[in-house]
Amino acid sequence: MSRPARAPRPTLQERWAEVQERWEEKKPAPFRSAIEVLPGLYQVRTRGSKAYLILDDEITLIDTGSVGSGVRVLKALEELGRSPGDIKHIVISHYHMDHVGGLPEIQEYVPARTGVHLMEAPHVESDVPLPNPFQHPLLAKICEPYLRWNDPGAAKVDVVLNDGDELPALGGMRIVHAPGHTAGSISLHFPNRGVLLVGDAMQYKFGRLMLPSRLFTEDMGEAAASIRKLAALDFETLCFSHFRPILTGADEKVRDFARTLKDR
Ligand SMILES: [Zn+2]
Ligand SMILES: [Zn+2]
Repeated sequence: MSRPARAPRPTLQERWAEVQERWEEKKPAPFRSAIEVLPGLYQVRTRGSKAYLILDDEITLIDTGSVGSGVRVLKALEELGRSPGDIKHIVISHYHMDHVGGLPEIQEYVPARTGVHLMEAPHVESDVPLPNPFQHPLLAKICEPYLRWNDPGAAKVDVVLNDGDELPALGGMRIVHAPGHTAGSISLHFPNRGVLLVGDAMQYKFGRLMLPSRLFTEDMGEAAASIRKLAALDFETLCFSHFRPILTGADEKVRDFARTLKDR
């Protein structure tokens, strides 16, 4: 009895063509430096964290990534058809090196005025290296050489920010002092656009809101109190410095989360 004829095996070229085709399907979209969160609000992937660009006639930059992030911000601006000279305001959420590291290099290229919370302006302006953010003494010691190596050096602070201060960005930006992660951490509330930017005041992992990382947070009790304070605000969209945004219904999520945090 003769065997049924086998289907001819694909040639190597055919198999390669199929692999290529599958790869093309899976390949991510071309890399963009800036991702639109809402019209006028863009998230920029910098080294170490995410910065935000607010595109009004005058541009506002929130945070600057780690040392070496300047080119990424400039590239994002170029992709958005704007020039570095349009950045007129820079606001720093807190003094950690993954947020303030790119500040001196960006200040060389843009004419912006920089705002930092009053408790942190002295660190940002100083030549003394930034305080070590690690809370565990052993980790702090191990990481000290790396931190020294990546320290941005002194930057210029033009405006000292305080709770309740307002800037014109995105129809009105209000500074909300939200201490805990660091003593001078601020969140930025845009009541007219329903947006809250929290920097590192919260984490958002696996679809769940969490307290800021214990590794780098100066006072967990204060961090919880700040989340309860932020839960009293109205907003639709919540943006973080290390996680993807929650686009809708975010204030309800924060209120639910805040209810789970006990008074400490
Ligand atoms: Zn931080
Ligand atoms: Zn951070």
